[in-house]
Formats: sequence, structure tokens, C-alpha cells
Amino acid sequence: MATKRKAAAMATAEDDDPVDPSDELVFIGLGGCQEVGRSCHILQYKGKTVMLDAGMHTGREGMSAMPYFDDFDLSTVDILLISHFHLDHAAALPYVLAKTDFRGRVFMTHPTKAIYKWLIQDSVRVSNTSSTSDQRTSLYTEADHINTLPQIETIDFYTTHTVSGVRITPYPAGHVLGAAMFLINIAGLNIFFTADYSREQDRHLVAAEVPNKTTVGKIDVLITESTFGISNAPPRAEREAGLLKGVSNIINRGGKVLMPVFALGRAQELLLILEDYWQRHPELQKIPIYYTGNTARKCMVVYQTYINAMNDNIKRIFRERMAEAEAAGNAKGVSAGPWDFRFVRSLRNLDRFDDVGGCVMLASPGMLQSGMSRVLLERWAPDPRNGVLMTGYNVEGTMARTILSEPEMIPAIMSGGHAGAGQNMGRKVRDDDAAVMIPRRCTVEEFQFAAHVTGVENVEFIEQVASPHVILVHGERSQAARLRSRLLDLNSRRLASNPKAHQTKVYSPENGAEVKIPFRKDKIAKVVGKLAQIPPPNSADSDDSRVVSGVLVQNGFKLSLMAPEDLREYAGLTTTTILCRQHITLATAGIELIRWALEGTFGSIEETSHVKSEANGHTGQNRSNGVKDEEEADEEIVPEPQRTFLIMGCVALKWSGREKQIELEWEGNTMNDGIADAVMAVLMTVESSPAAVKYSSSKSSHHHHHVHEQNGISFPHNEHKNISSDDRFSRLCMFLEEQFGDHVAPIETPKVSVQPDTKGTPAADAEVKEEQSDEEIDIESAQAAERARLAAMGIPVPGLEIRVDKNVAKLWLEHLDVECGNAVLRDRVKAVVERAVETVAPLWAVREQVKV
Ligand SMILES: [Zn+2]
Ligand SMILES: [Zn+2]
Repeated sequence: MATKRKAAAMATAEDDDPVDPSDELVFIGLGGCQEVGRSCHILQYKGKTVMLDAGMHTGREGMSAMPYFDDFDLSTVDILLISHFHLDHAAALPYVLAKTDFRGRVFMTHPTKAIYKWLIQDSVRVSNTSSTSDQRTSLYTEADHINTLPQIETIDFYTTHTVSGVRITPYPAGHVLGAAMFLINIAGLNIFFTADYSREQDRHLVAAEVPNKTTVGKIDVLITESTFGISNAPPRAEREAGLLKGVSNIINRGGKVLMPVFALGRAQELLLILEDYWQRHPELQKIPIYYTGNTARKCMVVYQTYINAMNDNIKRIFRERMAEAEAAGNAKGVSAGPWDFRFVRSLRNLDRFDDVGGCVMLASPGMLQSGMSRVLLERWAPDPRNGVLMTGYNVEGTMARTILSEPEMIPAIMSGGHAGAGQNMGRKVRDDDAAVMIPRRCTVEEFQFAAHVTGVENVEFIEQVASPHVILVHGERSQAARLRSRLLDLNSRRLASNPKAHQTKVYSPENGAEVKIPFRKDKIAKVVGKLAQIPPPNSADSDDSRVVSGVLVQNGFKLSLMAPEDLREYAGLTTTTILCRQHITLATAGIELIRWALEGTFGSIEETSHVKSEANGHTGQNRSNGVKDEEEADEEIVPEPQRTFLIMGCVALKWSGREKQIELEWEGNTMNDGIADAVMAVLMTVESSPAAVKYSSSKSSHHHHHVHEQNGISFPHNEHKNISSDDRFSRLCMFLEEQFGDHVAPIETPKVSVQPDTKGTPAADAEVKEEQSDEEIDIESAQAAERARLAAMGIPVPGLEIRVDKNVAKLWLEHLDVECGNAVLRDRVKAVVERAVETVAPLWAVREQVKV
């Protein structure tokens, strides 16, 4: 079950936000922008890069015929889509594949690849022999072309392919066999690229259709041609009649018809028109129709193969021919089909051409820049009986464009233009070599069979697609500009009559320019697994404040929301728990101090260790009798029990008594990591507490001193008790430091009075003192004895000295007496101590000691 939920509140909030660059579609025109030729465009969105076409400019030579590949890092391209086999869309492909660091995948339709193979091969060979320079040859070789063919993948019309997360679907574009329009879906954004397309059903191809919006959804960006701007063309029937009349006129006056054509594509359409006309006019059948070119015969095979990719007219002719062949008992006729012309002869080159009498010649290249069409033009131009019929799109800067203005003279660049001249004559002379000019007396007429949409058809198509963004390419600057203003005009009219009507932005970028279009797409996640069983929150009901929460999994651009336990089943993912451990050695602070400091930060801390009761201060006291016997033997070896605490329910603190090691353990996640960090900060503070440090260093030296010096003296020494007393002492130190800064220092020398102190001195201690005084011990040993007595009580040092400016207060720990000449300081110290005692009581286990 899929739940689509739109965060309406978020959408409104986002409108004011600056555009996130990752939400921008970037279009870069590397070629074919404000020009016709070298089509090549880059699309970037959500980290994906799609390149559209890789053509060469037929009106230019060498590197200047190439798209601006230097302006873009081709290694970043994920997918390259080739719309059709025309050189202005495909001729740079061998260069891209063989000579650049392009590493993406290339797609075209099956017929496109079949024809591309022959066409490029022919184009490389022709340019090898007839180009003014060898620049083009050096761009790539025939071997480069053949070797890179296996890299090209083929796809069928109407099939959708997901390649590196991008969905691509080719649609028939009309125009030429195999020509595709591409629907490209990147992260939910629909981009439609028509390339060259035609809207009329001709004799062999279907017309381009707007993709079905109910299946593909809204189109966000349309990239389309603007070849004919806004200009219209007469209806098809009228154009055909005009063309045939033109042909008949030339034939009837005894002339020759030259039809410069691109070797493949529209030539096939013209052949179908002529063949049909010849069929119906027996008087013309003695006039040969020639179709020249190296690839002509090979490519006719391709045309025969892909009859299924053509329209019903071709299929009908195919069926008729098949029936005829069957009736005649000729099985061979079946394979020939509609492309087995009866009145058309193919001509490999002009060497075998017997140039006598009238004829119709379809010769390439279509732009008359060199090759056979140019040789024949120069040969036939001076005779007024001859005629040139232009039928394609004539690229700016070529002879095809020049001849339309019917110039008096034309340059003879193919070696002076005498008969027999062809590729065998070697290289042509340069265009700017004005030395050889020949008269142009032949007629020149133009009939449009280019199979590009007319201006009217294009506008109609663009309006039907109704995309909010239209990028115009493949049109000269003026044509693109005219179409753009027509579209903007329609847009403002539409908005004037209906302010809610869709709005269209129209771009006609130059080569090299970047168009950035921001898109804010709602992210839609499919809810799957257990979560999908919960009824979705009702967005219409304001009381329903439930939130669907789970793990958001992104695969390519697909989002799914699922319960963590469904991760394995629905996303093929396993869940991993990261257990974090941190070890710290706290040499100074005891566990009680640590606990106390942690409780100050985190509140009550749960003790989870099993030995809890034994490690507790009170019970430690109770145990003292039991361990007493062993103490002298292994006083230092007796292990302090390990203790474990749980802080904030997530960070476990393990304290290994003897090594003073602390181990923190927690399940790694953002919150727990934060708490663990805070715990560590507290531990470091405790450790660096100056009083604790001072006490620790003094204690260790004196401790051993007592043990050895006072070896013979019996006193209840309890290591366990000392540990817990240490903690209490440290707590007191911390309290004082908090109030008085680090001017708190231990007093090592105890107060010694000759007479036993009467202030509640325990009886047992009094006895010890009496013994000592009997032996007339000097002051030093009296002090030592006093230290030992205090130590036995768990009092680590006799007192603490607190310095504030020049005033010194002495805190005697046994009874917490404060001595100070300054009454104010004395009272303050007293108050602090009282508070500390309340907090950390019992500070010293005085009463228990009395009982012993
Ligand atoms: Zn084309
Ligand atoms: Zn084109």
C-alpha cells in the first residue's frame, strides 16, 4: 500500500527560502544552441548528468565543427542519448568515445545504430579524400569509429530503462528512421527532449506524438527544436505536387535535375515520392533516377530490415509486394519489399556515370560543401536547362544556403569543375580562392521536405505538452528568438484570460550558457511493511496529529518508509548496533567522589553491580572486623570490588576498584554519544580537582611511611574504610574549592597537645595516647601517632588550610573545627563545611569508631 502525503505546511514555508543548488536543474548548451549543427546539451540534476546528442557542424571543419567539449568534464556524464543518426546529432560520438575521458553509457535506437555505423564510416572516408584540410580526419579515424561501436547500447521505442537511477524512454520522433524523442526522469523530474521531430505522417514514418500524460505525468521541462522558427509550410500534398512539377519542368526542357540530399533519411522519402510518380507516369520511366553514395546500397538493407519501425503506408506496400511476389512465384521479391525501387539506380561514384541526356540525381552531401553533389553542381550549373531542387534544411554558411540566393557566379572548388572530377581528383581548392568562378545559369527552387516541424506545428506541440519550462535549441538565433516571443505572447494572453492558467518560461540559450531552473519536488515515500498496516493520519482532520515515523530508505531516487524491523525484508538491509567503549584511568578520584560528581550532573545514578552492598561505605565499616586478620599480610592486594552504574539509562560505567580504571559503555547513537561525552567531561573534572590531586600525592608518600614506621603500633587500619573516606574527603575538597577556588591545601602536621584532647575523644584512642606519652615520645613521634590515629578513623589528613588573600583558615577534620583570626572567613568556612557535611554526611564514621 502506498501512502502519498504532502506536507502542506512545509511547502508554504519553503517558498521564501533561497534555492538549494541541489534542487536546480542545470542545462548547458555545448553546441546546437542558437545554431543548427553540432547538437550537444548537458542536463544536471540531483547529482546525475545526462548528455543529449553529440553532433558535428556540417558548415564547419575541424575542431570548430565540434561542440565545446573543453567547457565540460565529460567524465562526469552518466548517460549519453543520441536522438538520431544525422551528423549534426551523432558525428561527434566516435570522438567522445575514443578521444575523451567520457565513461558513461550511450543509448540510441536499433535503426539509428545500424545506419550510424555505415554513415559515419562513409563520412570519415569521404572527408579523408575531399576535405580542404585533414583536421576532421585527425579528430577520429575509421578505426576509432569501428572500435567504439560495441559501447553503444540500443533500446526500443516505448521501453523504459533505468540507468544509474535515471529513467529513459524513447518515443518516435518522425524525422528520419529511428529518430527518437527522449523522456528523461531524474529523481521525479520529467524532462522531454524532442531533438529533430516531425508532426506529419509522411510516406514511411509515423508522426511524433505528445507522450500520454496520464502515464508519464506532467512534463517539467521541454527541450525542443526551433529550426523553422514560426514559419509555416504549405500542406504536404501541395509541396509534393510542387516538387514533381519542378522535376517534370526540368526533364521536359531537356535538363538534368540535381537534388542535393543528405545520404540517408530524407533521401528515402524523396525516392518514395519519385518512384510513385514514375510508376504513375510511364512517359518518365525512360529517365533514370540516380541515388549516389557509398552507403546507399548498404543502408537500403537497413531500411528493409526496420519496416516495423515505419508507418502503415510502408507496411501496406510491403504486404502488396509480398502478395505480388507470391503470385509470381518469386520468393526473392519478399525480401526486397517497399525499398526495392524499380526506377531508381544506385550509383557508387561518378566514374561509371554516363552523363548523357536527362536524369534525376539525388547526390550527397546535402549542403553542397564538397563531394559528389558539389562536383555535379559545378558541372551542371552553367547550363540553363538544368535545375537544382533544394529539399532539406540548408545550414548557414554552406553552398546550400548560398545557392538559394541565385548568385551569378559560384566558386568551382572541385578542381575546376570539369567532367569526371570526383574524389579521385583529390582535394578541392579553398572556398576563398576566388580565381576559379563559374557562372550559375541553372534554375534553383526550394521545396521543404526536411521533416522538421513547422512553426505552427511546433507551437501547437509545445502548448499541448504544457511544460512550465521550454528550452529552445536547434535553430538559428533569429528563428529561436521569433519562436520564443511567439510562445511568450501566447503565455501572456493565456494568463490574461485565465490568471490560473499554466505559465511558461521560455529559454533560448547560447552555446556555453547555463540555464538553471529551480525545482521543489515533494518527496514521496512509499510506506511499506508493518507501517503500512497502520491507517494513515487524516490530513483533513486537524485533531489527527499522529505522525508516521519509521526509517526512510533511499534506493536510487525511490524513497520508502518502513519500521526498523522491516529493513531486512523490504530494503535488504541489516540493522547494526554499535557498542562504544571508552577507558579512562582516574588515579586520583575514588568511586564515591565520581558518583557524587556524576549525580550532581545527571541526578540519581542507578548502581547495577552485584557487589553493590559490599562496596558501600556503611557496609565496608561492618566488614572491617571480618577482614582485619588478613590486612597485615596482603593489605595492598585486597581487591576493591568492581562496581557498575548506569547513567541516564544508557551509559554504563564500570569501575575496576584496584586499577582505578573506568570503562564507559554505550550503544552508539547521537543522543547516547552526547551523554557519554558529558560523563567523560565530569570524570575529567573530578580527576583534575586540585585538592584531590594534592591529597593523592601527599597520601601515597605518608601512607607507606606510617605503615613502616608505625609497624609495631596496633591500630585499626582498614583499607576499605580509607577508600570511602577518601571519597568523602574529596567531596569536601570540592565543596571548598567551589567556594574558595584552588587556595585549599592539606595540612600535613596534626595538632598535638600534651594532654589528650577532651572533646569527645574516643576511649580507645585515649589509651593509645596514654601509652605513647608514657614513653616520652618527642613531638615528631607524637605527630606521627596523631596522624595514624586520624588515619585509623579514616581521616586522611589532619586538616585543610584555606587561604583567602592574607587570611588563613584552618579546618581540622576530626571535629570540623575552624581556626581563623578573621571572623568573617571563619564563619564562611564554617557555613561551607556545614553544608558539605549535610550533603556528604556521614563525613567521618566517628560514631562507629566509638563503638569499636
Ligand atoms: Zn536531423
Ligand atoms: Zn538536426
